[in-house]
Amino acid sequence: MHLRALTLTLLLAGGAAYPLAGQAPSPEAVSITHVTVVDVATGKKLPDQTVVVQGERILSVAAFDSANPLEGRVVDAHGNFLIPGLWDMHVHVQDLEDLPLYIANGVAGVRMMSGSKDTPKLRAKFASASRAPEIIVGSAIVDGDPPVWESSFIVRKSDQARRTVDEIKSRGADFVKIYNGIPRDAYFALADEAHKQSISFVGHLPYAVRASEASDAGQHSIEHLDGITIACSKREQSIIKELRPLHYLEKMNLVAEAIRSYDSAQCQALFAQFRRNDTWQVPTLTVHRGMAFLNDRRFTSDLRLAYMSGEVRHRWQPENDFRFRRWTPAEFELHRNLFTADKQLVGLMFRAGVPLLAGTDAMNPFCFPGFSLHDELALLVESGLTPLAALQSATLHAAEFLGRTAELGLIAPGKRADLVLLSADPLADIHNTMQIQAVWLHGKYLDRSSLDRLLEDAKRRSGKSTLH
Ligand SMILES: [Zn+2]
Repeated sequence: MHLRALTLTLLLAGGAAYPLAGQAPSPEAVSITHVTVVDVATGKKLPDQTVVVQGERILSVAAFDSANPLEGRVVDAHGNFLIPGLWDMHVHVQDLEDLPLYIANGVAGVRMMSGSKDTPKLRAKFASASRAPEIIVGSAIVDGDPPVWESSFIVRKSDQARRTVDEIKSRGADFVKIYNGIPRDAYFALADEAHKQSISFVGHLPYAVRASEASDAGQHSIEHLDGITIACSKREQSIIKELRPLHYLEKMNLVAEAIRSYDSAQCQALFAQFRRNDTWQVPTLTVHRGMAFLNDRRFTSDLRLAYMSGEVRHRWQPENDFRFRRWTPAEFELHRNLFTADKQLVGLMFRAGVPLLAGTDAMNPFCFPGFSLHDELALLVESGLTPLAALQSATLHAAEFLGRTAELGLIAPGKRADLVLLSADPLADIHNTMQIQAVWLHGKYLDRSSLDRLLEDAKRRSGKSTLH
């Protein structure tokens, strides 16, 4: 055994120099040999490495050394590439049966963006899933009156906002999820209370708040590029006055107006502010694309629908969604133009050093659990990110955002063994993140045939469910 690996074993054993009598034997080690490790911090590819996994952790990463006999099971990964487990930083979990699709796609963790008022009950439900990624659980959505979604917390006034944060914190959610209709005063009270109670608040940008104000107030992430185009417009102040909650299409027309009155210097000042304040952006290009192409048969005949239940396939038809039911062809056309502008904005933000995270907004229409994270990575690269930067947005940067770099985001001794083995180089072509040969989830090894079984199970279940 390598010296470094030995030292780490001792550390993990809590400092004991050798196993004490009666202690459980340590779990069998698995050695992944001859693999190219992708260091997502530097973009370096380390060839011919041996990565040893034991229990839930990575024990060692070292160049292959024929002098050292390998212990335990060996997975020969000659010609393959190893990346850290992926994170989808914006999802909605609706059915536990969708969760294995994340695993089958190498997604080891997700951030659940609409929780429940009863967080303990929701956590217990997630804990009962047999195959699931780690789930970071947000609060129920906090919105103004009337809310877009039933079962939201409604806040009208400052004191109500403070009480809501209090309730969310005491029920144990990981963060406060905010939404479009929160009034200004309530928003700033919520921000202040969240800061006092050390719980982060993230989500949409309320219509009544400017992006720069949200950044200064400490909103940790802004989703969907909300308000960024408007904040980059010479007409920002007057456009904000015209925004009204619950008038989504009106908002889109105002966004189009904002694009026409784009001011580069104003935009760069905003991006600098995001960097200074550690305000992360989760563009969710996948959901923007989904909405823009819902009336395009080539797009909606996606073969991956075979993994979704009849209920979901029904709901994803635009005529069955109250948000899109009345859209005209011209409105879809507007969304396609906005989607193009979204990608340009993401490219600008990347070049300006704004921190970015990969998120899909699964289970919105054509945002597939697991699969679509790979769509998002490809869309980020189309927008101007390098393949390395796209990978970082779903690995290292997700770990940084969550404050968990000690255990997540890199392939290194002591980190959690969430790993994805690829048959092709993801830095040469980001689409290669889909060439998955095996996954380690908390150290548990799933080879290609185990992953295929997860997919087959999902297909079988969806085939049985009612078609509408
Ligand atoms: Zn969402």
